[in-house]
Amino acid sequence: MSKTIIVSNRLPLQIKLEENNLKITPSVGGLATGMKSVHSEGDGLWIGWSGLTQEELTDELREKVATEVRKEKCATVPLTQDDMDRYYFGFSNRTLWPLFHYFMEYTEFEKDFWDSYKEVNEKFAKVVLENAEDGDTIWVHDYQLLLLPGMIRDAKPDISIGFFLHIPFPSYEIFRTFPWREEVLHGMLGADLLGFHTYDYERHFLSSVKRILREDVNFNEVVYQDRVVKVDSFPMGIDYQKFYKAAQQHTSLDPSERSDLQKRIDDHFEADENAKLILSIDRMDYTKGIPNRIRAFEYFLNKYPEYKNKVRLVMLAVPSRSNVPQYQLLKKETDELVGRVNGELATVSWTPIWYFYRSLPFDNLIDLYTSADVALITPVRDGMNLVAKEYIATRVNKDGVLILSEMAGAAQEMNEALLINPNNFEATADALKRALEMPVKEQKKRNTMLQKRLQRYSVDKWAAEFFRSLEATKNLDQVVMGRKINTEIENKMVEELKAANRSLMMLDYDGTLTGFKDNPEDAAPDEALIELLQKLNAIPGNDMVIISGRDRETLEKWFGKYEFNMITDHGVWMHTAEKGWQSLERIRTNWMENIRPILETFTDRTPGSFIEEKRYSLAWHYRKTDPELGVKRVMELDTVLTSLISNNELSVLKGNMVTEIKSSNVNKGRAVSRMLSETRYDFMFAIGDDWTDEYMFEEMPSKAYTVKVGYQKTKARFHVHSNKQVRALLEKFTK
Ligand code: UDP
Repeated sequence: MSKTIIVSNRLPLQIKLEENNLKITPSVGGLATGMKSVHSEGDGLWIGWSGLTQEELTDELREKVATEVRKEKCATVPLTQDDMDRYYFGFSNRTLWPLFHYFMEYTEFEKDFWDSYKEVNEKFAKVVLENAEDGDTIWVHDYQLLLLPGMIRDAKPDISIGFFLHIPFPSYEIFRTFPWREEVLHGMLGADLLGFHTYDYERHFLSSVKRILREDVNFNEVVYQDRVVKVDSFPMGIDYQKFYKAAQQHTSLDPSERSDLQKRIDDHFEADENAKLILSIDRMDYTKGIPNRIRAFEYFLNKYPEYKNKVRLVMLAVPSRSNVPQYQLLKKETDELVGRVNGELATVSWTPIWYFYRSLPFDNLIDLYTSADVALITPVRDGMNLVAKEYIATRVNKDGVLILSEMAGAAQEMNEALLINPNNFEATADALKRALEMPVKEQKKRNTMLQKRLQRYSVDKWAAEFFRSLEATKNLDQVVMGRKINTEIENKMVEELKAANRSLMMLDYDGTLTGFKDNPEDAAPDEALIELLQKLNAIPGNDMVIISGRDRETLEKWFGKYEFNMITDHGVWMHTAEKGWQSLERIRTNWMENIRPILETFTDRTPGSFIEEKRYSLAWHYRKTDPELGVKRVMELDTVLTSLISNNELSVLKGNMVTEIKSSNVNKGRAVSRMLSETRYDFMFAIGDDWTDEYMFEEMPSKAYTVKVGYQKTKARFHVHSNKQVRALLEKFTK
């Protein structure tokens, strides 16, 4: 039976070593909850690090850990202290984390960290491959394992892999600074489905794929190395019921059952009838905007002094990565700021900030969430932010106000919160005032909407949606790849070719027989290609034709001495061994004077683009331009040209990164139909990669083998992946 394998840096287990005895408890984090149903189904398996390094374990204990975690349907990846230092604290937390959160000044590009990151991803891959069987589904999580999908893909090309990134994906301008950008994109694209929290992260990722790998992106799909990779956003939710129910129970607690923390909070409310509580909870991380928040609160108290003695900020900061220098600095800065603000503003009966540097048990979190009039969540950058969602889920009476940074992924789906720019103290202070004065009716209206959404898109729904989408990518592959040429079709073609008395092979040149070069002149045929074409040309009864949009002069220069059949200029000229060059169409070219200046203005405004002047057509190339600008400009150009060309005399051919304007009575299709009308062929084959070849496919009879290079929409019957495979296929014809 096929199973699902979940892979994340840490296992969803707390494993403690107490006097040589293992104590294993399940963790209760959001991810563990979300994955519960996926993990518990069938033979589900979770692979990750146990939390104990190899050095901490004796051989005997290692065995024991392995057996014990197996019982929890988990498998461990053995990591050493050195791995932790370089892969985890190093590359993950000193390179990827700051870079992906736009903290470029904190980002360390250390080759040594990168080497370890690769090694550890390999270690994960090894354990995954030891456990994975054909038909299994693998779901990889987060930034510590960006290379893993690619590594699994290399070893198991047909396995289904999903990847979810729990942190932001930065804009291209940030990502391009990363020395190992290609490797990381390649690693991620090993997956069939890539999930992000928000559409912005998805957009940024696709933009990097386009600009760095220069791969085509169709809406949210990338055809990468023979596979369709789908990219989508799935905003992660919380276990809504868990928080809602806990809050409900909390409200019905007998006063004697209240925690010490709750009693202190109650004292605060009793001290003044207008007393209010503002809450913030986060890991002590520089992305969370903790110093900004303290400063904004100070600014608020000074700007609106009537709130002094009444309002208190309860700030819970959970210790995190405290051996990374920037985290130590942040801790110091926070301690000092809290000290300063409290020192300056406190009175005998009131301290403005209650600051806790520790983690609190769940029940205490509920005390805080349910008691806070306002939650002030101000990260400068945050992939999602679950605290904001948890606060809303605990508001069983629907009161309370959430102030949320626009920079948190959660802000995208929490529009009813008061959204602020955390760098704007003025606006944050005003939002605080507005929150504290907001009529309860308005609070309830906003929270009703927020709660509805959170309840609906809970964390298990998130996991289920991702999974459903991953399943659907399997079909996607079948639809697009179903017509991919396989050995069976190849053999059939070879057989039919052998049996044929007369055969026809129409071969497009650029993008089909060769790859693209930045400059069209650089794409001259190599020796191996010439040899291959000679062999094809020598097949008895075979009409091999190189059919190209290139001009007669170029093809004559390249192939003239071999006496190949050629159709050039999209069908203006034809060359055969018997008749030499003859023109197929009579062409006017005086239109060029009018069109050229238009193309020139586009070239001036589009760096990297250029005009190719052919004898019968003008081509505007944009292969070297910024891909997004290129696509935009070509749409503009299309509009301009359509308004000008109204008399059907000219037509616009949209090729691969090129737009070509030429007389309408010329296209590859007309040339093909002329050939077909002159000879009866038993075997017909046409292959090409771009729009101009569609005319040729269209004219071919239905039994002909028409083949598109690449996976774009086509009239051809079959696809091959790239021009490299074209050569391999043509070689088979010569055997
Ligand atoms: N949390 C916790 N113990 C604490 C404080 C917070 O377990 O003492 C939890 C909190 O309930 C939330 C998570 O930590 O689920 C923080 O998630 P978030 O997305 O807000 O931030 P992250 O730490 O993932 O950057």
